[in-house]
Amino acid sequence: MHIGANVSIAQTGLLRAVEESISYKADTYMIYTRSNRGGQAKPIENFHRDEAIDIMNQHGLADPVVHLSYLVNLASPKEETFEYGVMVLTEEIKRVEYLGFQYIVMHPGSHVGTGMSLGIKRIAEGLNSILTGDESLFLCLETMAGDGSKVGNRLEEIAELMALVDHRERLGVCIDTCHNYSAGYDIVNDFDDFLAQFDDLIGLDLLKVAHINDSKTPFDSHKDRHANIGRGSLGYEAINRIVHHPLLQDIPLILETPGGYYKQEIALLRGETDELPPEGKDSGEGI
Ligand code: ZN
Ligand code: FE
Ligand code: FE
Repeated sequence: MHIGANVSIAQTGLLRAVEESISYKADTYMIYTRSNRGGQAKPIENFHRDEAIDIMNQHGLADPVVHLSYLVNLASPKEETFEYGVMVLTEEIKRVEYLGFQYIVMHPGSHVGTGMSLGIKRIAEGLNSILTGDESLFLCLETMAGDGSKVGNRLEEIAELMALVDHRERLGVCIDTCHNYSAGYDIVNDFDDFLAQFDDLIGLDLLKVAHINDSKTPFDSHKDRHANIGRGSLGYEAINRIVHHPLLQDIPLILETPGGYYKQEIALLRGETDELPPEGKDSGEGI
């Protein structure tokens, strides 16, 4: 099992991310390379890439993931928002290629009232204007919780979107246990059935990343409120079963839980403690 968390790049870039990950005894991690509040991104040359990669190699940290800013919305009917998304994603691909990382996770987008089918077409149009096929990474579409007007709550929507993209070979998928359960997939009682549907519609070889979160809201609630492991509606046993599922042992599993209890949650899921983390307040809505 390869497990890590959503870590910071404050001040020292990747050095900070790696140092934080080591303190959690993680063996992978996820970062945002720019603020979700917008503004100018920190130059990628200032991320201390080479030093950080040395430390990662020494500590067995691998397969890092970058999460795209959620200000990007290629499904938006607003031309300005669409163009901004195309610009930021184009730049982000270059930045992540510079780091040499393999995965960018992105939320497909929100159609903001135009409907699922137009939303899907618009995202595909955006991706088709960005992807050349020469990228050295996978752009992974994250499955959503069914909240608001988001695209990608159902595996069918992800599959439909992928089918419209010319350079499908550059795409992957990121599942999120909180989102999937909230969207009405009963992964607590039958995760295998979810994986079977995934395999039918998308193909399991395209499952590249998994976000591991409990949920503050019930099954099929169509809400996106992350909870600490064992402190939500999925529960410890179900999440523990999922992270140890044979089909998830080669991909990065990333915690996006509240309160900064990552060290404890990683130890719990590795079976090194049976103590549940405290209940973090904020719920990381939208990640
Ligand atoms: Zn979420
Ligand atoms: Fe996300
Ligand atoms: Fe997520």
